[in-house]
Amino acid sequence: MQTSCLIDGTFVPARSGRTFVVHNPATDAVIAHVADGDASDARAAIDAAARAFPAWKNAAAIERAKPLRRLAELMLRDVERLTDLCSQECGKPLAEARVEVAYAASFLEWYAEEGKRVYGETIPASDPGKRLLVLRQPSGVAAAITPWNFPIAMVTRKMGPALAAGCTQVVKPAEQTPLSALAIAELSIEAGFPAGVFNVITGLDAPAITDTFFDGLTVRHVSFTGSTEVGRILLAKSAANVVRVSLELGGHAPFIVFNDADLDKAVVGAMASKFRNAGQTCVCANRFLVQRGVHDEFVKRLTIAVAALKVGDGRAPGTQVGPLVDDAGIRKAEAHVADALAHGAQVTTGGARVTVPGGTNRFMAPTVLSGVTPTMLCFREETFGPIAPVCAFDTESDALAIANGTPYGLAAYLFTADGARIMRMVEALQYGIVGVNDALPATAQAPFGGVKHSGLGREGGHHGIEEYLDLKYVSWRIS
Ligand code: ADP
Repeated sequence: MQTSCLIDGTFVPARSGRTFVVHNPATDAVIAHVADGDASDARAAIDAAARAFPAWKNAAAIERAKPLRRLAELMLRDVERLTDLCSQECGKPLAEARVEVAYAASFLEWYAEEGKRVYGETIPASDPGKRLLVLRQPSGVAAAITPWNFPIAMVTRKMGPALAAGCTQVVKPAEQTPLSALAIAELSIEAGFPAGVFNVITGLDAPAITDTFFDGLTVRHVSFTGSTEVGRILLAKSAANVVRVSLELGGHAPFIVFNDADLDKAVVGAMASKFRNAGQTCVCANRFLVQRGVHDEFVKRLTIAVAALKVGDGRAPGTQVGPLVDDAGIRKAEAHVADALAHGAQVTTGGARVTVPGGTNRFMAPTVLSGVTPTMLCFREETFGPIAPVCAFDTESDALAIANGTPYGLAAYLFTADGARIMRMVEALQYGIVGVNDALPATAQAPFGGVKHSGLGREGGHHGIEEYLDLKYVSWRIS
């Protein structure tokens, strides 16, 4: 298991010699002691990335594609090892971690191809003596700050487009889950990336490390996935050197079920969207809005399905819901349940912590709350836990008003059989992603990202590579 930072093609301990401990949130078992890098280590990584940039930028896209594709293959070769590491670090069930590894590899594979299609343009000039061209060029060193909830996929979702575009990169993974990023770093050496093209700095002091991304002109792009609170801090910091930022921030996804929906499919979708990673994803359904005609039946079926979920250590066979990542996470989930109950909601299943033999006290019973109203905490804030609050609505416009009544705008879900309504809703929902009768819309070839307080920019698809490219307009007088 790799525990040192990757700088300039070599694994090195932190200059200070310090390390920090990474725990399994399910058991508190120590997984490893990892290099506690600081600003000086981050600067060394940025310098290495800057040195590697000219050659990487000038390499043919088909050459850049080779190590990217090779890395995807190596990740799939080592899928079981990566799956286990991911589950240990963030607590998610093995089955989900295995899906994450494949999803993560898909970004490398897809961008290995997309990098070959970074075309320029010629523009018809008004002056016949001129030729007008547009070049699309990699912007420079890219930095990435990744979260703990997808410790593998959030690295490759930023690595694929950055490196395919011709940028070099420094990644700072979340302090809870640095080992997955270091495992990718180790495979990147085997994949054949030149030294300095991809660097990883692990460390506890996120502000000190990430300040180095903004304090000069070398890093030209910072991609962040995490909380809206931290995203705002980074956006403010980006002003000093006008660094481009992509922010994938918090969500508060409405999951809207109309009377004419296929209820079986809606319940299956609700389960997949809500309880994946114990509710700890930014696109997890956070608020269920169910039309009154099917409300009671939906709550009944959802309650039966949720009550059957198996809670446990993510690495134990059959586990479907693991622990929350830390104590703050479970306290927040409990607080949302307590607030809902205090204001008149009812628990139809779950509602409290679960004891898992040999486990920590971070396991929350998968919970359904009915009788929820939009003023309750769980309908105003992202819960990031396995709590499904259900609120009844009457009309399409009521549903829209509740769904859009939040500063967040990442993902929304819609279950109905009425085509005209689908189009009306899709157009009116203030969200970057809409799943129509589909609870799992994320895929490498489509743009992922939000509006309002959910972020700036997009990851995935041909849109995702644009974040790493600068346009250069050339006006060429030929006569
Ligand atoms: P979460 O609340 O989901 O843990 P955070 O936004 O706190 O999300 O963390 C996401 C990433 O941002 C992690 O890599 C973390 O280390 C980093 N981070 C946290 N606080 C700061 C900060 N003040 N400045 C820069 N990065 C930060």
